[in-house]
Amino acid sequence: MKLVRFGECGQEKPGIIDAAGALRDLSTYTDDITPAFLASDAFAELAAMDLAQFPLVEGSCRMGVPVSHVGKFICVGLNYADHAKEAGLPTPEEPILFMKATSAVQGADDPVMLPKGHSKADWEVELGVIIGKHTKHVAVENALESVAGLCVVNDLSERAFQLERGGQWVKGKSCDTFGPVGPWLVTMDEVGDPQNLRIWLELNGEMAQESYTDQMIFPVAEVVSYISQFMSLQPGDIISTGTPPGVAAGMKNPRWLKAGDHMRLGIEKLGVQTQQVIEEA
Ligand code: ZN
Repeated sequence: MKLVRFGECGQEKPGIIDAAGALRDLSTYTDDITPAFLASDAFAELAAMDLAQFPLVEGSCRMGVPVSHVGKFICVGLNYADHAKEAGLPTPEEPILFMKATSAVQGADDPVMLPKGHSKADWEVELGVIIGKHTKHVAVENALESVAGLCVVNDLSERAFQLERGGQWVKGKSCDTFGPVGPWLVTMDEVGDPQNLRIWLELNGEMAQESYTDQMIFPVAEVVSYISQFMSLQPGDIISTGTPPGVAAGMKNPRWLKAGDHMRLGIEKLGVQTQQVIEEA
């Protein structure tokens, strides 16, 4: 099942993509795709319903973040061995965690705005995990039961803010627009194995990142279990599970993002994002 929130920013409506790939308006079923919705029996109920009863949405429309009120946004650093290598850092023995401010979150195709004073803005395509229930101290073998669905994330980063301004990475990860999520929340039954998905990002039409999620050092189930040993996970929380090699920071002569750039990124079964890069006004 693919769930979406479509429409103008702040006025998104709930939607579902039917078997033919068409968008249908779920407003008669629910007001919104909220954390409480993810935690309810709605998925099982919807799976048993005939989607033809929901009206088709004509034309193209903006896709918002597929769940409202994201509570926290946790990222895993250096979760692909080749990316750790290109970053010149040792392969981590435990997952490296950091936070991205939820004010950075936005729709899949909304423009990415380079913050004032930027000099080293960078891209990172990542597999996003959307939590569906309250989770604490979950065992690895049960961890995927806490996942409502998966999505594409672009974990944008300003490397000078991240690494040269002191303190933690959060400064370089939390700029407004630095967290595109979506276009869809794809439920686990539809994805199957989360560790067998092609993941890629093109900058201005040229492939920059291309890998498979089987290259993760800590797979999704281990990441969810690991985080839940330190804090509870709640419905609507998003975990971004790390990026494969091919970011600007890994280049000999880094080619940082600039206004006018165009990113296209995706993950097999989870859809595609496209972002135009602009300067903060
Ligand atoms: Zn990242």
